[in-house]
Amino acid sequence: MNHLALDISIHAVEYNSLSNGPGNRMVIWVQGCTLNCPGCFNPETHQPNRENLTKISALLHEIKKHQKNIEGITISGGEPLQQLPAIIALCQLIKQQTALGIILLSGFSYSEIQSFPLFQSLIASIDLLIAGRFKQQKLLKNGLRGSANKTYHFFTQRYNQTMVENTKASEIIIKPDGEIVITGIDPLVWEKNES
Ligand code: SF4
Repeated sequence: MNHLALDISIHAVEYNSLSNGPGNRMVIWVQGCTLNCPGCFNPETHQPNRENLTKISALLHEIKKHQKNIEGITISGGEPLQQLPAIIALCQLIKQQTALGIILLSGFSYSEIQSFPLFQSLIASIDLLIAGRFKQQKLLKNGLRGSANKTYHFFTQRYNQTMVENTKASEIIIKPDGEIVITGIDPLVWEKNES
């Protein structure tokens, strides 16, 4: 199979983020999630969209173009594991062709993920998996997890819990065209979840 020809449904890409893991990172938010966690920070990513697809070859090209400026890639959503074969193919190509680290956030629990037929391929192609539903009652105001029930699974020595928990809680990025992007834990949604 030509993995470069596979498609991923993407919600958004940010090329320089300081609040999605250690160092400066490229962040890929996929489109589509059926898990419906109450209080989700990214409800606009839920609706699947199989009409606006991005080829892995195009994503990989962008990643390689930016690789000198970033420590790694964070893949979030939406639910990345609902596009599992394409996500694994992308991660394998990133690992083969760059020295970038990969962090993947999923709403599935680790035991659910362990039951996926492609589990071994997944964990061989990423450095860190953060797993579990977002739970409003366990909201966290720092780090990457979003809620304290979510679990860390380190598959290489590249990252550790301290590095990940020192991630800035949120950031506001003002683009050259004036667009404002808030990533990490949006303070307004955070306030709503607390009230
Ligand atoms: S898994 Fe993530 S994107 Fe999906 S509903 Fe839960 S928090 Fe939102």
